[in-house]
Amino acid sequence: MNYAVKDHRVKRGTSAVDFTATPNKGGTITPEAIVLHDTAGRLDHASSVSWLCNPAAKASAHFVVGRAGEVVQLAPTNVSTWHAGASSFNGRSNVNGFSIGIEIVNPGIMQGAPGNGARAWFGQVFPTAEHGIEHRATPQHGAGLWMPYTEVQIETVAALCLALREAYPSIAALTTHWAISPGRKVDTNPLFPLDHVRARVMGRQDVPSHGDDTDAVTTVGVNLRRWPSLGDNVIEVLPTGKRVRIVRSGVFTNGDETARWFLAATGDNEGWVHGTYLDLD
Ligand SMILES: [Zn+2]
Repeated sequence: MNYAVKDHRVKRGTSAVDFTATPNKGGTITPEAIVLHDTAGRLDHASSVSWLCNPAAKASAHFVVGRAGEVVQLAPTNVSTWHAGASSFNGRSNVNGFSIGIEIVNPGIMQGAPGNGARAWFGQVFPTAEHGIEHRATPQHGAGLWMPYTEVQIETVAALCLALREAYPSIAALTTHWAISPGRKVDTNPLFPLDHVRARVMGRQDVPSHGDDTDAVTTVGVNLRRWPSLGDNVIEVLPTGKRVRIVRSGVFTNGDETARWFLAATGDNEGWVHGTYLDLD
């Protein structure tokens, strides 16, 4: 499942994903964060797409990701959509002005219903066993019944975020609505594997275990890349035996491959090198 972004539209393989234009959008943005949401709606993604394209909703997002991994784009990724509302991220308000919003189809918080059911805010009752619904209580979410996301949905969200980060080097964070609108919003739900997805998308930003100012030497001619992925992002080709200083490392997944990458400073440039091609001191 490989996604890419071209001209602010997302493609899967060679063809663009479904695009349904929302009128609920604003001006041009430089994306610096991705905000994950739940649709808090019915399980078919079309009903959420329809609502987020309705002027009466006064809400929107850039993407809706369905339970079977469907992706629908609602606006180009360089214009603002209305997904965050009153919000703050790292002390900056109006998160819509610098973020991409992804709505994940999920009914949101539910309450117990007679006969082992869970009732969503819109009245629909889901059998708990059939949907694997679980009770959770967290300080951020409060107590409720929550429906797990599907595997393909989580995979799709991660792959989409990776493509966005690749396309926009300005993206430096993956966050959730509950984190930027605390006390007001509870999406994504407590069953979303946020740490896992964040590690895959942003890398685990651990410092080298060898300590600061570790040096390394390239073992072959190798690309120095703007991002830890094999996309079209080469800054320069380092010759064999090039000595670099390691700034930090991270574990990143690209397609089927998970590997450790190193952020390396050459003196002239700083970029990422695949760990296979470095000999660490
Ligand atoms: Zn939300």
